[in-house]
Amino acid sequence: MWLFIQIMGALALFHAPELAYGEDFGYDGDLGPRYWGDRYQECRGKHQSPININILRVKQVALPDITFIGFDDPIDDVHVTNNGHTVLIEVENEPHPRVSGGPLDGSYVFSQMHFHWGDNDTFGSEDKINHRSFAMELHMVFYKEHYRSIQQAVKHSDGLTVLAFFYELDRHKHPAYDDMTSALQNVTDPHSSVVMSNPFSFLNILPLDLRRYFTYRGSLTTPPCSEVVIWLDFEQPIRLAHDQIEAFRELRSANGKITHNFRPIQPIGDRVVFYNVDNNYFAYNEIDDPDESGPGSTRKRGKNCSHKIRLSFLTYVFILIGSYIRT
Ligand SMILES: [Zn+2]
Repeated sequence: MWLFIQIMGALALFHAPELAYGEDFGYDGDLGPRYWGDRYQECRGKHQSPININILRVKQVALPDITFIGFDDPIDDVHVTNNGHTVLIEVENEPHPRVSGGPLDGSYVFSQMHFHWGDNDTFGSEDKINHRSFAMELHMVFYKEHYRSIQQAVKHSDGLTVLAFFYELDRHKHPAYDDMTSALQNVTDPHSSVVMSNPFSFLNILPLDLRRYFTYRGSLTTPPCSEVVIWLDFEQPIRLAHDQIEAFRELRSANGKITHNFRPIQPIGDRVVFYNVDNNYFAYNEIDDPDESGPGSTRKRGKNCSHKIRLSFLTYVFILIGSYIRT
């Protein structure tokens, strides 16, 4: 009996530090998303994330340009950490990268980025577009500078913004992801961390088109599910090779490999998703006013942009038809 107590004591000690890292939620069984609300009331809220974005119900808008500050600077001190749920990327360098503009009021400071993935390449993203799931999703988390810290920011409904990027499969490796996937091999154990060997630039790992995105109000997708996030889901996916995505599935939690770490979609409720299109779309309409007729060159640019929007719309109609055929 004494031996049993000693073993149980040793096990309790072994598990104690992990509780400090938030091991009270998971993605399966009793700790799975269905039960998060038992411990974290906000996970039962009305404005939760992720959601499915129905492209036929979005409201097109032309928001001011987003300003990305420090995104193309090479950053030396980049920490890669397996926190038992995902891989976190944090930076030491000051000042941290920032983002402003678009739907954001004020400047938001980079806090960390992390990833969500699935058991195989056919699903794994959190948000979906027309019920299409992507292989993986990147979340770049920023807090509102006005609130001075992420701890204070999460107390306010506009406290955080998350820039979300989808991944899809490519035959070729994405060279900018080689350093990251190498670093993953050194953090397969939960709560292990390494510093990346080469400088790292945010812009290198993102898609080219940062102008087209969906935006809506939602929550953290992990407990405590706080409804404090202005989401920006960029339309153009990042393309990775299968092996590069597979490297994430090698990471381990206390319970074995992290094969999936995405929350199921939540009801959209009374929320509207906005779709940011090119500003020139509206410039064209203004110029079309007979009293405002301007030089032909500007008008031509406007026409091209509205043509692109029609093309994009048609693309989504095809995706929609495609997704119905698959199901
Ligand atoms: Zn996330």
